[in-house]
Amino acid sequence: MSHERHLVVFSGAGLSADSGIATFRGARGLWEEHSIDEVCNFETWERNRELVHRFYNARRVALAGVAPNPMHRLLADWQRRFRTTLITQNIDDLLERAGAMEVLHVHGVLTEMRCLDCGSVWDIGATAWDPARDRCPDCGSGERVKPNVVFFNEPAPLYGPMSEAFGALGPDDVLVVIGTDGAVVPIGAMAERLRCHKVLNNLEPVEPEHFVPGMVHPRQFDRVLYRPAAKATGELDEIVTAWMAAWSGSGL
Ligand SMILES: [Zn+2]
Repeated sequence: MSHERHLVVFSGAGLSADSGIATFRGARGLWEEHSIDEVCNFETWERNRELVHRFYNARRVALAGVAPNPMHRLLADWQRRFRTTLITQNIDDLLERAGAMEVLHVHGVLTEMRCLDCGSVWDIGATAWDPARDRCPDCGSGERVKPNVVFFNEPAPLYGPMSEAFGALGPDDVLVVIGTDGAVVPIGAMAERLRCHKVLNNLEPVEPEHFVPGMVHPRQFDRVLYRPAAKATGELDEIVTAWMAAWSGSGL
């Protein structure tokens, strides 16, 4: 019996931080300037339509000025070399621009708009959306068009496929977690339960006083690399390549 090993990579803001994309949370995070309720709450966004669009327009237009970093390119390369599922919380398109063929964006895609009236999703690239003039190309709605980014209190339809990918990991498979503390998606709790090869790359450990259940902790992983993602590519590639290549069959 042969089993093609499966590599699952789960990434967060730390992956794109080295490309100059500001993180949403934390010191100087984008949400420091606005309350989450103003720009990222599904229940209230229509009251703040102008601000919501201004906020995401700025993020989207800024995409034109940033480029993938070496870690984006390594993940895209893994997808060519191994059976790889790339799952990201990031809404930027840097993995795609690095050559990734398929990416599960569990929190949506910044370059897309979505119409809540007819369900259409379409790409507008790194351009601004003018809520006064622009309309849904399918039904003409203007009021109910939002960035295709998952807001708080909004269903995240890709959480299902994400959980399936984690749940299917067997003892010979590999989980790589990059650039997330597990505050939003509890990847630490997930990693703790999984019996596979596991490696974490984060800038630094979660400080004990900030730790809540679900967050990442070194005890959940076989290997831990604390450094910027773009500077971890060499060692991470060695670790993952060794795990993906190791012979585990019985007999010869
Ligand atoms: Zn529509």
